[in-house]
Amino acid sequence: MGRKQRITFRKVQPKKAGENKTAADIIKELKEGSASPSDYREQSLKIHGLICAKCGREFDFKNRHLLTVHHKDGNHHNNPPDGSNWENLCIYCHDDEHSRGLLGDYLKGK
Ligand SMILES: [Zn+2]
Ligand SMILES: [Zn+2]
Repeated sequence: MGRKQRITFRKVQPKKAGENKTAADIIKELKEGSASPSDYREQSLKIHGLICAKCGREFDFKNRHLLTVHHKDGNHHNNPPDGSNWENLCIYCHDDEHSRGLLGDYLKGK
């Protein structure tokens, strides 16, 4: 059996474009890029607005902490950037949605 010959040659790479990012670039990426767990809330609030999808209560920057992001499929790791799995619910409706229990964890984070 001929042994497989492994040819490891390196392409000469032009300097990676990502290496000299400006702070602005990074911020831009953070805003547009994949939603990290702590980020999806902001994303969802931005996409769906500061309003509870269930009771229609509106929120503003002063009480926005009462508005939480519900994952429609129940999977907190499923965070499509288009917001299709998110629903903004006030904590009361959210609590209701989960029929108690889960939200305790949810509000503690992680
Ligand atoms: Zn509500
Ligand atoms: Zn939920």
